Order: sequence, then structure tokens, then C-alpha cells
Amino acid sequence: MREVVAADQPFEAGEMTRDEARSHWEKLGEKYKLHFLSQIPEGAKVGTYRNGPFLDLCRGPHLARTGELNAFKLTHVAGAYWLGSERNEMLQRIYGTAFATQGELDEHLKRVEEALKRDHRRVGRELDLFSIHEEVGPGLVLWHPRLGMVRHVLEGYWKEEHYKAGYQFVYTPHIASEKLFQISGHLENYADIMYSPMQIDEQAYRAKPMNCPGHIMIYNSRKHSYRELPLRYAELGTVYRYERSGVLHGMERVRGFTQDDSHIFCTPDQLQSEVLGVLDLMDRLLKTFGYDYKCFLATRPKDKYIGSDEEWEFATAALRAALEVRGLPYEVDEGGGAFYAPKIDVKLRDALGREWQCPTIQVDLNLPKRFGVYYTGPDGQDHEVIMLHRALYGSLERFVGIFIEHTGGEFPVWVAPLQALVIPVNAKAYDYANATVRALQDADVRADVDVRDEKLGAKIRDAELLKIPYMLVVGPRDAEAGTVSVRRKGEGDLGAMPLASFLERIAREVRDKVR
Ligand code: ZN
Repeated sequence: MREVVAADQPFEAGEMTRDEARSHWEKLGEKYKLHFLSQIPEGAKVGTYRNGPFLDLCRGPHLARTGELNAFKLTHVAGAYWLGSERNEMLQRIYGTAFATQGELDEHLKRVEEALKRDHRRVGRELDLFSIHEEVGPGLVLWHPRLGMVRHVLEGYWKEEHYKAGYQFVYTPHIASEKLFQISGHLENYADIMYSPMQIDEQAYRAKPMNCPGHIMIYNSRKHSYRELPLRYAELGTVYRYERSGVLHGMERVRGFTQDDSHIFCTPDQLQSEVLGVLDLMDRLLKTFGYDYKCFLATRPKDKYIGSDEEWEFATAALRAALEVRGLPYEVDEGGGAFYAPKIDVKLRDALGREWQCPTIQVDLNLPKRFGVYYTGPDGQDHEVIMLHRALYGSLERFVGIFIEHTGGEFPVWVAPLQALVIPVNAKAYDYANATVRALQDADVRADVDVRDEKLGAKIRDAELLKIPYMLVVGPRDAEAGTVSVRRKGEGDLGAMPLASFLERIAREVRDKVR
């Protein structure tokens, strides 16, 4: 490649008839190219490119000259089956990447290396966070105690924020009779992501792929006046969806996951302010975790959709107006809406500059009709509610997987499963170390003590590997003075301080959710 680049060969585009191309590559014995040529109709032309002595079938486009390929690297080789089928021969695929400048290439390679180091599956193993087993099933995640604590904290924070924002918590079962999914249309529209039915008392049941039908049944269990609206039902609801085994990926693409789901029932007049409320809550949540984000307004699909033009215009205008009132920059994803309504998709940007789709806010023009979801208006008549679906974390599995990669497993203090590890310098300090841990725990600090019969250096190294934010090293002198020697992950030795000062410091960090 370097020789070809140095020769600065021009790429020359050309054309051949199918039969010319056939006889050219037949002579060279290129059976794979002949396979593709056999699919081209007679009389049709094929595109070619030539550089130096090399002629290839190609639609293009290409650079003008090989000399423009300034900075490239061949990254790896991997086997690939011809035409993607394992019944065919295995070919070798060479992977490479190229940039306009060496600086951009270096930058890119550094990011790739960092992403590899932070891969949540790798960090998950190193920190004993989660596992997935063939015996349990692909795409089904087991949360280990450390990550269980992280989830507990995230759920607690989520509940607090939602309670403050006027949401009410509900719980719905993991399975439901097929009757429910007939009404909702899930059996009609989403059968390919739903698992096979199980039989209970002559009735077929399904694992739920979404939480909406259950929430609607709660709403519909009695009549509602316009005065009660908006109603905001929230649930950390676990759903099950079929994903092909080839796309499963650690915690980020799974078959069972918990959505931080919510459905808002409101009047048309309330729609815009409800969307604003969701945007504000989302903004607070994402900023707390240190994410920038980008909004996309997904509008009506070209062919397959339900609802009238007026309904689509009304719902789309409400979403657009909310984005504009908040001054949130957004791109329009023309035709990217669901068949039943427009939506706002939000992509967050992680520490490595990668984008992930997590939060989504959707209006629904479908389910209120299917279930007959009404409120009684000031006129005493029944009116169809406006329904919003929204999730902010998206799914806890995915959000936490992304957060592991965003932080590299160095969770901020308020999230860290173990916030402080007390390390006695020798056996004489054990009593004081134990008393210190009790004092920390009494102050709601997640703390533990390392009384293993190991050298101090080894204990400090192990705590570093577990990415514990604080180490408190205590010796006999600390016991007398009531102090702790504080080491902060990433900052190093902060020196000795009274235990009370440390408690103040960590309490402030937790309260302010310092990143
Ligand atoms: Zn929903």
C-alpha cells in the first residue's frame, strides 16, 4: 500500500459491458467476481476503476489519486464466509482505516484503544459486575452485588426525581393473557419480538414486550375527569423481546431488560407542557451523569401509518414547540416516526464522543383508540386522552452498560458500590479501623474494612484495581488523634484529616452528585 500511495496513481473510472467484463475476469480465474457478474442483466454496463496495473469492478466513488491517502492503518484480519453463509468458503477480510491527516488517525486509534479498555464486558469481568451464562440464556443478564448496588442507587435517584416531578409509581406483571395483546395490537404488529405463548388454565399468556397495556388497564379501571389530568404512571418495568443471537451485545443489546417507563395521560391542551416537563427531567438526569445530548424529531413515516393528518400535525407541532421553547437544537428525522405517532429521540454522547440512543418521548395516536381511553371533559362528554410514552434511561441494562464505558468503571462517589475502604496499617489498628467503618456506615457511607493478612501496599493496589473512590489508611497514631489518612482515586494522597472532616467532604460529594 505504501508503494502504491507513493506512486500517486490516478483512479480512473471506466465502464464495460457485462460480457466484456466476464471475459476479462474469466481469463484471470476470478470466480467471485464472475458470481456477481452473473447477476447483472445482459446488455447492462458495469463500473470499473483502474489504478496502475490494477483493474477492479467498482461503483465508486474513489479518491482522485492514491497519493491522497495520507494516513492509513491496517488494523486486523478476520475470516468471513463468502456471501455471509457458513456453508460457503471462508475468505480473509482485511480491515483498515484512513484519515486525511496522521493526527486524526492517531486520535482515532487512541479512541479505539480506550474504548477497548473500557468495554463494559471487559470492565464487568474485571470488577465482578455482571455475567451472562448459556445455562440462563443468551441476552439475559445477572447483576452481581456490586452492580446491584449501582442499580439500587440509580433506581433510588430516578424514583426521587419522578416523585418530585409529579409521577405516581405502578407495578404490572411480567406476563399477561394474550387477550391483552390482542387489544393492544402487539400480537398483530410486534409478534416477531414476542416470545411463544405459555398455557395457563386453557388461556395463552405472553411475556410482556412493553409496559403500556398494563398502564392503560390501570387508567381504564375507572373513569377520569379532566380535573385529574395529567396522570403520570411510572414503572421500572421489565420486558422481554426477541433479538437475534448475532446482535446480542453484553448488557447493551439483550433479551430481557428493565425500562424506566412512564405513560402520561393528558388533554390536548396539556400536551406541550407535559413534553416540556419530560424534557426538563431528562436534561437534569443526563447532565447528572455527565452526558451531552442531541435531539431528533422523528416525523410521520411515508407509507405505513395510522391516524389522520390533523392528528399528526397536532402531535408533531406540540413536540416541535416544546423543543423550541427550551431552545434545544434538534434535527428532523423525516419519516422516522413510529407508525402510530411522532417522537423525540435523544442521543447522548459519552466520554469517548460516541453517540447512544437512550431517551425517547413518543405521542401515541393508536393505543387510546384501541383501548378506548377517555376522560370526561368540562362538557360532561367523553374525550379521547392524549397519551405519551417516555423512557429516560431507556433500559437500565443498556444505560448502565454505557455508563460503565463512559466512566471506565470509575463510578462517581454517589454511585460507587463501595465508597470508602478502611485499611489498617497493622493489627494494632484493627479496633480503630472497625470503629471507623461503623462511623462511616452510620453516616450512610458505603464502607468496608480490609483486614486481610496482606502487606499495606498490596491492599492499596487491590483497592485501586477495584476503583474504590476513597481509601482511608489508619494506624495507631490516627487512633489516638481521631484522624484518617485519605487517598482519593485519581487525586492521590490527600493527607491526614479528622474523621469528621472526611465525613463532611464525602457527604458533600454525594449530595452534589459530583462526577
Ligand atoms: Zn409505552
